[in-house]
Amino acid sequence: SIPLGFFGGIGAASANGILIKGSNYLEALTDIDIAVFDKTGTLTEGVFEVCDVKIDDCFDKDFVLDYVAVAESYSNHPIATSILKYYGKKTDTSLIDNFEEIPGYGIKASIQGNKILIGNEKLMKENNICFESTTKIGTVVYIAINDIYAGYIIISDKLKEDSKKTIDNLKLLGIKNIMLTGDNENIAKYICDTLELDKFYANLLPHEKVEKLEQLYSKNLNKKILFVGDGINDAPVIARADVGICMGALGSDSAIEASDIVIMTNSLYKLVEAIKISKFTKKIVI
Ligand code: ADP
Ligand code: MG
Repeated sequence: SIPLGFFGGIGAASANGILIKGSNYLEALTDIDIAVFDKTGTLTEGVFEVCDVKIDDCFDKDFVLDYVAVAESYSNHPIATSILKYYGKKTDTSLIDNFEEIPGYGIKASIQGNKILIGNEKLMKENNICFESTTKIGTVVYIAINDIYAGYIIISDKLKEDSKKTIDNLKLLGIKNIMLTGDNENIAKYICDTLELDKFYANLLPHEKVEKLEQLYSKNLNKKILFVGDGINDAPVIARADVGICMGALGSDSAIEASDIVIMTNSLYKLVEAIKISKFTKKIVI
């Protein structure tokens, strides 16, 4: 039978904007050993701003940006939103012949018979594009038109203001902190250093995020692992963890469904509150 006190805990959590889908998850929160985080939308705001645009001299900048905007208007990724905000004009979406979203890589489209690739280094390498790699810190979005490198856009995202405080508190609770991201090594290392995380893994494809979690389980036998994500490209990881948590303010329906706990706001610190409520509730039950 389920101890009554756990219902009290679930109620207290819900009053704090934390939806816990069952008393077993509240119980599981009491003895977590490792917290694994997605980057975009979880540790960071997930609100990107374009901070640098470099279009190759061989191309007309307006032409390239028009094409990029048309293609990105078919994507729901936070990167697409920020590029369209920077572009600031209406796009003529009727120009597009074909559009494909390639999770973990970027997008591929055909506009007026021209092929356009927009995404990370992996997307460029996969398509054998000869491109100029940049070490600038930020999420770098490379562009290729008809398989010719056309330039890059650098987008920066801010850490959530409570991310550092959350990690500091998790450490005090004896929890190790690890970040998984599809984004590049430079930005991942910067975030790892700033937040003083124990470890990070960068350049991961959505399915590689699940594989990393499996590896963490096999390296840490009998350890309890929680995962927090925003649901964009990480619903399978949310589903696999002992406790899968989704940041609900941005989260997709499939991620909310896959998760055991939903944080109804953008505040990551709710995670610490949930763990504290679970420990407190357990004390009362015993
Ligand atoms: P994260 O782990 O940071 O949440 P995602 O798996 O959501 O990363 O995305 C991984 C990478 O794929 C992004 O960092 C970006 O380089 C590329 N990408 C995804 N969607 C787009 C898009 N619409 N336009 C350009 N690049 C994209
Ligand atoms: Mg994500």
